[in-house]
Amino acid sequence: MASSPRAAHPAPAAAKPRELVTLSRLLLEVASGPAVTRADLARATGLARSTVSLHVDNLRRRGILKEERDGHSTGGRHPSRLGLNPQAGVILAADLGVTQARLAAADLDGQPLAARSKDIRIGDGPQSVLAWVDAGFQQMLAEAGRKPADVLAVACGVPGPVAHATGTVVKPPVMPGWDDYRIPSYFQPRYEAPVLVDNDVNLMAVGEHRARTGVEHMLFVKVGTGIGCGIISGGRIHRGADGAAGDIGHIRIPGNDATCTCGYVGCLEAAAGGGALATELQRNGTRVSDVGDVARLAADGDPSARRAIQVASEQIGGVLAALVNFHNPSLVVVGGSLAASDNLVAGIRSGIYGRALALGTRSLTVEASRLGNTAGTAGAIHLAQRHILSPDGLAGLRKKPKTA
Ligand SMILES: [Zn+2]
Repeated sequence: MASSPRAAHPAPAAAKPRELVTLSRLLLEVASGPAVTRADLARATGLARSTVSLHVDNLRRRGILKEERDGHSTGGRHPSRLGLNPQAGVILAADLGVTQARLAAADLDGQPLAARSKDIRIGDGPQSVLAWVDAGFQQMLAEAGRKPADVLAVACGVPGPVAHATGTVVKPPVMPGWDDYRIPSYFQPRYEAPVLVDNDVNLMAVGEHRARTGVEHMLFVKVGTGIGCGIISGGRIHRGADGAAGDIGHIRIPGNDATCTCGYVGCLEAAAGGGALATELQRNGTRVSDVGDVARLAADGDPSARRAIQVASEQIGGVLAALVNFHNPSLVVVGGSLAASDNLVAGIRSGIYGRALALGTRSLTVEASRLGNTAGTAGAIHLAQRHILSPDGLAGLRKKPKTA
């Protein structure tokens, strides 16, 4: 039913880079708040009302913005409110973990259109895993009455290091068969849209950060099969020079001689990750195969599983105490399959408070994830939306040939 309005309204002549910057500024202003008026945009950006109106009219013609009269009008003249047009196109998101995956589709305004999840084995390799992802994308598009040509961006999170600029997976310890694989090469021919690839924990951090207001500095710790950390600094995700920031699972901890999947000995993940806990419980005769089983056992009150999580939480808390001293966040959020276990968050909290400096913990909150298993896709959709509305993203929209 819903074909892209961009197909119905041909793009105007190519804008100059400076104009794209202005269009992007206006769109991001609309995206970040409640619906705004043309006067609000002029105030927020310092642009003349006439300039704002010119650009808004352009963006409405292209079907990117919509403008509606306030429905509560009682006679006086009410200004029209602007919003991103939900019919402008679709964002597709995939959050791939080691053993679980979640897919979501949303409109340009970030409102959900469809979602699904499945147990997977990331070690089956890119062709097999991405074929399932793409089949899910196609089903969700059909459910939402949209077409592949309506896709504005694809965002995909994976449980390993990613060179963010190219979307290439780099020497991932828990993703056999994916080393040097460039994920955009799979989706670009299918959707002719930009493909963003990130570490799964970065996407979760963005999703959790978006679910809160007023948080500038935050750490998001995922405790699943492995352990990773997403860093929000000054309200933005911090990836570092190459995209490797936050890989805390491979920090060495004292008194640990376990060999890690990365090849080193003594990593935090090799002692306290969900995969390590499953192996340890198996060794003691408990029937578990992965981190999901460990979480279920702990939820059922199994003493050995709860004890293993308790010990792990203190080790993770010890590493986080150092990171709190280093980064001084106001919030640490704990997510991943084991976060549902109440004693994980409590143990991490006491580990941090027992070791971090007083000033670093004065205004610190440590809490469990609010979004649970939807944090990754929520973050992916947000980053994709920001990319679409960026000057580069807007320039790409213009070039994308529409066949619908
Ligand atoms: Zn390691």
